[in-house]
Amino acid sequence: MYFSSEIELHGEYHQVEVQTFDYVETLDYVEILEIVECNVSDLDESGDGNVTESTLEPTDSIQVFESLSPRTNTPNQSLVIFDHIIIKRAVGSDDVSVKITHCGVCYSDVIYTKNKHGDSMYPVVPGHEIVGIVKEVGGNVERFKAGDHVAVGTYVNSCRDCEECNDGLEVYCSNKLVPTYNSIDEDGTVTKGGYSNFILVHQRYCFKIPDNYPLASAAPLLCAGITVYTPMMHHKMNQPGKRLGVVGLGGLGHMAVLFGKAFELHVTVFSTSASKKEEALNLLGADNFVLSTDEHQMKGLTRSLDFIVDSASGDHSFDLYLSLLKTKGVLALVGYPNEIKITPHPLSSGMRSISGSWTGGTRQTQEMLDFCGVHKIYPRIEIIPIQYAYEAFERIMKNDVKYRFVIDIENSLK
Ligand SMILES: [Zn+2]
Ligand SMILES: [Zn+2]
Repeated sequence: MYFSSEIELHGEYHQVEVQTFDYVETLDYVEILEIVECNVSDLDESGDGNVTESTLEPTDSIQVFESLSPRTNTPNQSLVIFDHIIIKRAVGSDDVSVKITHCGVCYSDVIYTKNKHGDSMYPVVPGHEIVGIVKEVGGNVERFKAGDHVAVGTYVNSCRDCEECNDGLEVYCSNKLVPTYNSIDEDGTVTKGGYSNFILVHQRYCFKIPDNYPLASAAPLLCAGITVYTPMMHHKMNQPGKRLGVVGLGGLGHMAVLFGKAFELHVTVFSTSASKKEEALNLLGADNFVLSTDEHQMKGLTRSLDFIVDSASGDHSFDLYLSLLKTKGVLALVGYPNEIKITPHPLSSGMRSISGSWTGGTRQTQEMLDFCGVHKIYPRIEIIPIQYAYEAFERIMKNDVKYRFVIDIENSLK
């Protein structure tokens, strides 16, 4: 059986024919059940600048992967799910080809799928908490072999030559960081994330999942986990007895509590929702829960904390939280509020600092995964089929998730 479809390559659409596979077609999407081979029929051979030496010839067989992606690029239009045929490059000498089993759902997936920043490049295939099993590796790859459990996080390339890259801080690459999706890679293609069956990644941006660590639980570590682990390590908040405050108890906040307890810190959770108290204390093991709207309770904690992980994305008072820090205390911002408004006094009167960071470099990401393996730190997850993705987005926007959705790619995207 043949199936024709358009694929995007170098910003241009090409007709492809996919050979001999079974598929089910419904009103909204085509579900591809098996792909044997796919040929590109109309690539321009004249070398018009869009097709480079390293890309495909018209007669080349290519690998195609099915993915879930929104059809529309109109932000206000309701989104339709369909399977999209996507070309990925052939396995290069430094590449690891990964069969994806699970992918965590991050708030950025909502942002880019719904084009909230106005820079989405459709079809967007979101997902940057990727977990799977190695299928194939290139000739230079020694760290991984077929069958290994691996993970891919929020970026898939960087310049590998700047000070930050050489320092293992690739996420701050000063030349060219390539996020896992919705970014232009060095070969000119738009990167596609983990709501897909496969990903091909340079070995540098691939991580080992510790033996016996459940694959589904590993997914949230790649964004939510490393995002809070990085500032905690940078500010030496892994020393037992120190006092940690966690603002907001979602995907990031709950990881901060889990790391805090593994580091033997005294952990106080701040939330606007009293309903989170019981879980914060009993399920996650926090030492203290404070309703941030309760002025009396908040005042009682003045100058009591060494460090605050602020994961709240809604607008909130920074002055108030800064005043809870001891002298030289640090507030680490990991959420994304619209703006940070502070007055000088709470900052200066305690020699306090506000710091910001993204996810983390490759070295620290691997260290964090290993730490979670040794200390049996498992994020709290709700496993969903990929068909539930848009409903999950709606629930994330309402803050209705405990504490991370993880898509069971292996069993639902077939
Ligand atoms: Zn994320
Ligand atoms: Zn770099």
